[in-house]
Amino acid sequence: MVEYNSIIIHYGEIALKLGRRPYYEKLLKKNLEKKLNRKLRRLRGRLVLKLEDSDWRILSEKIGRVFGVVWYAPAIHVKKDIEELEEKIIEALKQEDIRSFKIYVKRSDKTLPLKSIELAEKLGRNISNRLNVKVDLENPEKKVYIEVTEDGFYLFFDKIAGLGGLPTGSSSKVLSLLSGGIDSPVASWLMMKRGCYVDLLHIHSSLTHDEVLETKIGKIAKKLSDYSLGLTLYLASFKPFFLKSFELPPKMILVAFRAYMLRLADRIARSKGYLGIVTGDSLGQVASQTLENLYAVNMFSQTPTYRPLIGMDKQEIVDLAKKIGTYDLSIQEYRDCCAIIARHPETRVKPQELRELWEKHNLEETVEETLNNLAEYEF
Ligand code: ATP
Ligand code: MG
Repeated sequence: MVEYNSIIIHYGEIALKLGRRPYYEKLLKKNLEKKLNRKLRRLRGRLVLKLEDSDWRILSEKIGRVFGVVWYAPAIHVKKDIEELEEKIIEALKQEDIRSFKIYVKRSDKTLPLKSIELAEKLGRNISNRLNVKVDLENPEKKVYIEVTEDGFYLFFDKIAGLGGLPTGSSSKVLSLLSGGIDSPVASWLMMKRGCYVDLLHIHSSLTHDEVLETKIGKIAKKLSDYSLGLTLYLASFKPFFLKSFELPPKMILVAFRAYMLRLADRIARSKGYLGIVTGDSLGQVASQTLENLYAVNMFSQTPTYRPLIGMDKQEIVDLAKKIGTYDLSIQEYRDCCAIIARHPETRVKPQELRELWEKHNLEETVEETLNNLAEYEF
């Protein structure tokens, strides 16, 4: 077993944002420190975590859920001493039965007299002779990476892909409409990926708010929170709308419910400072998700609505849900309120028609009633 003593963490895109680079770096460092409950060191273009006596695998899993990290690697930190570096590589390679290797050097500290290529050649030659293993530049069996930093050498063998994206908090906060389906957790996650704080609003048909926390909704909120620095779940009761729905033409109920949900989210957004609403709509996925319907319901919100899944196929969404870890939760049994609503909805509702329906049945009052009994939970 190779004895790692550090993890080096690389970020890509945030380094490209020239003017904002120090800001993004500091934010990513702060977020990682919060998630890992550890102090990190910032070197030029990378962050380093000293392992001390903790298991790198546990920390690694957490780093894999932090947005802004492009890749990371458990590494061996060696002081700026080439002989010692060579010994460490020998020690590691000896443990495996390999036929070939290649050394990759990246030098961000220019005080070392050897150029990257010179260091790679020197080490390659020495190690090849000592272990009797050949250097293969084309197709090496084992890749040996060395980063030369102002803090000495970092030696590692496996790069682990991070999630990419931007650090949490680099964008403002949005409110995501969370259903019991597969789509909306994925939509929420994609907004988190772009640096937003994402809070969730769910409308449920349970008797009490607390009951909902025991269902998959609570579990999905927890899962999403793992990718962020905590989040708020708002729970609203389906009851006010449900009672109202008996007055509405059956074909219009689902579209009216969509308008009502957006309006509800809009009211919360404006009172609490959310700059966007998020939904898991995907164009044409179900009968109610037509451009006509989306157009009509959009009028009920002043807050911009973001639909990150709009152009995705169901299979792509499912694949992403599996990667995120929400898929297995989303497919659990649950009494979603949409399931209570009529099966054959209007597919091309006219904005004017929806507006008239809203006025005639005073749906604004239904929104008001729902708002009066809203619950908030922290995850
Ligand atoms: P599925 O994954 O089965 O398609 P869905 O979550 O996409 O489920 P839809 O009926 O397609 O559900 O609803 C479209 C969007 O409306 C959802 O993605 C979600 O953003 C929002 N939504 C639906 N039902 C609720 C609800 N009960 N509470 C909050 N938002 C909801
Ligand atoms: Mg859907």
